[in-house]
Parts: sequence; C-alpha cells; structure tokens
Amino acid sequence: MKMDKKNIDWKNLGFGYMQTDYRYVSNFKEGKWDEGTLTTDANVVINECAGVLQYAQTIFEGLKAYTTKDGKIVTFRPDLNAQRMVDSANRLEMPPFPAERFLDAVAKTVKANSAFVPPYGSGASLYIRPYMFGANPVIGVKPADEYQFRVFTTPVGPYFKGGVKPLTLRVSDFDRAAPCGTGHIKAGLNYAMSMHAIVDAHKEGYDENLYLDAATRTKVEETGGANFIFITKDKKVVTPKSNSILPSITRRSLLQVAKDYLGLEAEEREVYLDELQDFAECGLCGTAAVISPVGKIVDHGKEICFPSGMEAMGEVTKQLYNTLTGIQMGTIEAPKDWIYVIE
Ligand SMILES: *Cc1c(COP(=O)(O)O)cnc(C)c1O
Repeated sequence: MKMDKKNIDWKNLGFGYMQTDYRYVSNFKEGKWDEGTLTTDANVVINECAGVLQYAQTIFEGLKAYTTKDGKIVTFRPDLNAQRMVDSANRLEMPPFPAERFLDAVAKTVKANSAFVPPYGSGASLYIRPYMFGANPVIGVKPADEYQFRVFTTPVGPYFKGGVKPLTLRVSDFDRAAPCGTGHIKAGLNYAMSMHAIVDAHKEGYDENLYLDAATRTKVEETGGANFIFITKDKKVVTPKSNSILPSITRRSLLQVAKDYLGLEAEEREVYLDELQDFAECGLCGTAAVISPVGKIVDHGKEICFPSGMEAMGEVTKQLYNTLTGIQMGTIEAPKDWIYVIE
C-alpha cells in the first residue's frame, strides 16, 4: 500500500534540507558493523573529540529517488554509488560499508520516506545522502576505531527552475586536488578545500570554478562538484581523463548513452586548456542537474565563448540530456540494471 504524499509544493522546492520522517543508521564497533536500523531521530550525538570533528574522516554519496511514468519509485545505478563509497572508505582507512548493505539501506530509507518522493512530472526528486564518519575520540592522528554509516533523504526541486541558463565559469587559480591525493574519492575534505574558491568565484560574478591539473596547470579537470563533457565541432563527445577527477556516475552513463543510443563517438582523454576554444558545446554533469550547459569560460580575462551561446543547451548536449533523463523516467528503455525499482 502506498503512503499518501506529504502536502509539499513540489514544483517550487529548491535544493535545501527538509527533514523527512526516517533515516538509516549502522554503527561499526569492535571490528564489525551492527545490523543497522531506521530511526526517527535526525540528530547525531558524538563525542567532542570524534575523528570526523578533528581530522575530517568523512565520506559521502549522493543519488536520487524519483517516480517514473508508470508510477514506480526507482533509483538510478545505486550499485555504482555503493562501490564508489567502498573505494572512498578504503582511501581514508575507514571500514567499507558492504555494497549490498548500502543498497538495502538506501531502499529501506526511501521506502520509509515514500510520502516525500515527488510525483512524476514535477521535476522534483528525493535526494539521498549516504555518508559515514569516524565517531570515537581521536587526538593522536590515526584512523578512528568506531564509525557511523547513515542515510538520510530530503526532497529537492527541479534543477532548472525557470528554464535552462548556461553557466559562466572561470579558470581557477586554486587547486581542487593533488595528483596523488583524494580528488578521485567523495571525501568531505575535498569540499572544504573548495569553499573559499567558490565563494570568491561568486563574488567575482562566476557560477563555478574550472580547476586545472595541479601539477602542470595546463589540463582541464572538473569543477567543485561536477565533471565536464565537451562536444567537438564534428559531434564527438569528449571528457577529461585524470586520476584526480571524481568518477561521476552521470558522466559514465552519458558516455555510454552517446555511443549506444545516439551513435556518437565518445572518448575520455586529456583535455588541454588551450584547446577549449575548439569545442562546440560544453556541459557540467552530475546527479543534481544531469547536465548544466556552460556558455562561457573566462581564463584570466580571456573569454572562451562556446558557439551554443548563453541562451540554451547545445544541440548534442540537449540530445544527451533528453536521452538520459528519458531513461531515468522510464520513457526510454534503460540498459540492463540501470534502474533499481524500490516500490
Ligand atoms: C559527486 C561529484 C560529481 C558528480 O558525480 P555523480 O556521480 O554524477 O553525481 C562530480 N564531481 C565531484 C567532485 C563530485 O563530488
């Protein structure tokens, strides 16, 4: 039996935190994860010296649940989020939360909050935030011995409220990730690093920072929270390759959509700053927007304007966007195992 929906103005929701009824919690103590449970308590109580508070030992994931055309509540490729969180945990010396338990925790949390899953056609979705952190006191620098894994959800509105507006980026003088650092995992510390850069970019009138590779400052990496895709003038899809870029699930999916659904060539390769002016279209991809078009990139006063302009998504970007969102919403047949039905 489906729960009655909450009385929420879905179309006018923003991207903010709204407390929902249930969240999932599991604790790691004495070398093992407990069985985990749903709780109504939205507050986390930890010691003042908890590892996460002192040395930022925390990782997270982000995915969405939404209602498809035929009324099912689904998530998109959550197995890839589960695996990425295992990879993140290993890099920060945290005990991985087993991938199959991650999937179960996400499903249980969404099901318990199904009254908050926005209806089909609203453009809104239920954002899902799995995360874990070092929970016991740590003062000498070392990994914590105890951890907490949690999943909460919050309904979020349509990303492109009031229409699509291409973004303006600047080439940042700050770095996001070191060559052999943690740029490839979803660690909270990467975001702490980016706060000053994004506040400064906004102050100067830009939407986002384009980060270069920290070693040579000649190659394009990503923005603070989204990967790049570029479209060449002969309609090839190109995405930057680097081991300090966060492996976006949206980007990996778009490359497959380009090849298998649109018959386009798609490649992951190094992309140099000085070839940006040769591309026809540019977009940022991630779970939040799927793709946000980029109209302009400013490199220390030099403007690189993409032919797709400042009014609309480029033509190929739009095809990619429509196909992937169609797959997600159940109006286009999905590749095997991309859609997980929750109820
Ligand atoms: C989460 C994230 C992305 C987007 O990844 P998706 O799996 O597509 O949501 C891109 N870059 C960074 C730095 C991220 O943290």
